[in-house]
Amino acid sequence: MDPKKMHPESLMMSYGYKAHLSEGAVKCPIFQTSTFAFKTAEEGKAFFEIAYGLREKGADEELGLIYSRLNNPDLEILENRLTLWDKADDAAVFESGMSAITTVLLEFLKPGDLILFSNPVYGGTDHFINHFLPKLGIHVQGFTPMDTPEDIEAMIEAHPAKDRLAMIYVETPANPTLDLFDIEACVRLAKKYSRSAEDRVYVAVDNTYMGPLWQHPLQFGADFVIYSATKYIGGHSDVIAGAVLGSSEVMPRVKELRTFLGNMAGPHTGWLLMRSLETLKVRMERQAINAEAVAQWLAEHPKVEKVYYLGMIDDKDERHQDIYRRQYECAGAMLSFDVKGGEKEAFRFLNALKLVKLAVSLGSTESLAEHPATMTHAGVDLDLRNQLNITGKMVRLSVGVEHPDDLIADLSQALDQV
Ligand SMILES: *Cc1c(COP(=O)(O)O)cnc(C)c1O
Repeated sequence: MDPKKMHPESLMMSYGYKAHLSEGAVKCPIFQTSTFAFKTAEEGKAFFEIAYGLREKGADEELGLIYSRLNNPDLEILENRLTLWDKADDAAVFESGMSAITTVLLEFLKPGDLILFSNPVYGGTDHFINHFLPKLGIHVQGFTPMDTPEDIEAMIEAHPAKDRLAMIYVETPANPTLDLFDIEACVRLAKKYSRSAEDRVYVAVDNTYMGPLWQHPLQFGADFVIYSATKYIGGHSDVIAGAVLGSSEVMPRVKELRTFLGNMAGPHTGWLLMRSLETLKVRMERQAINAEAVAQWLAEHPKVEKVYYLGMIDDKDERHQDIYRRQYECAGAMLSFDVKGGEKEAFRFLNALKLVKLAVSLGSTESLAEHPATMTHAGVDLDLRNQLNITGKMVRLSVGVEHPDDLIADLSQALDQV
């Protein structure tokens, strides 16, 4: 059977792994080794010629195993499996989501360049863009969900560095408000402002909230899809990891900088993520079903003022409805809600939870609740936070795989304490 014709979930247990190379082990072992023995000096020479780009790879030639900072079977097999969900040419796995993000930004931006980015972005990304990139002389300019593609274009036109626009970085849906950004519109702007095939504007999308199942940014023309694999891909709150996927045009540059920064994932992380990918689809689908039940229940609750959930976009909000229809395959398993009152009421609810854990992070088998205004988004500028509705009354929920009746019973007893 041709693997290219099968569904990714059917291939997560086997793709890219040859049992006969590992004593017949059904599962890929952890290749806990720093270095790999060459059969001959000639073979070692040939591997290095390819690794250092000294000559083109032959038609059937593969990059041999050299040293675990360059390659390792646990990473290579994992990367091959990850490409299937997003139909990417190649993937690179990192020791964290932040190292995946920062490696792309450092490789594709240089002093004098301009990056446009969506607000709000993940706290660590926000800090790196606003506080580290300017130290390299890179201009940064944020836009918000209220800005239309025309507004964003006007922002570029008004910027003194508009001739050096180099990247549009988008996190959609935005965390924690689930506001949507239009990837295709960003790709159109990137094409328009690209100077030549070599001097381009790249589009990078952090797809942690929906991926790799429910949104596929590469298919809308994005150059990079980036993940905190700590979240849904890892899915068990037991590993920190990240991934970047893209075309064969851009991925060699990502992997090269990874080799020199040395921020690749280790073999044990690779092995844990392969374990996780086997159940990715069943986990995420169950989580999405649970999230729908929880969202509907919350929307009816007298102590809940508003629910933010992709399955409940206001009928009158045509712009978001339109993006949702084009860009998403499911409403996902993340939601936020405002309790009636403010921080005091939200804290009373959070402190009363029993089954749901009070913790940041998301996408795992267990349900997690947190308070964005004082936790994940505490570093976001207060005016911006208010503009985006991230206030004291907001609670964010990452819905897990528990029975929905038990989740609702827990939320119900906690809301009774408010
Ligand atoms: C968690 C997260 C990150 C950072 O990933 P780490 O694995 O914690 O380094 C980046 N983006 C989003 C959307 C996240 O949720």
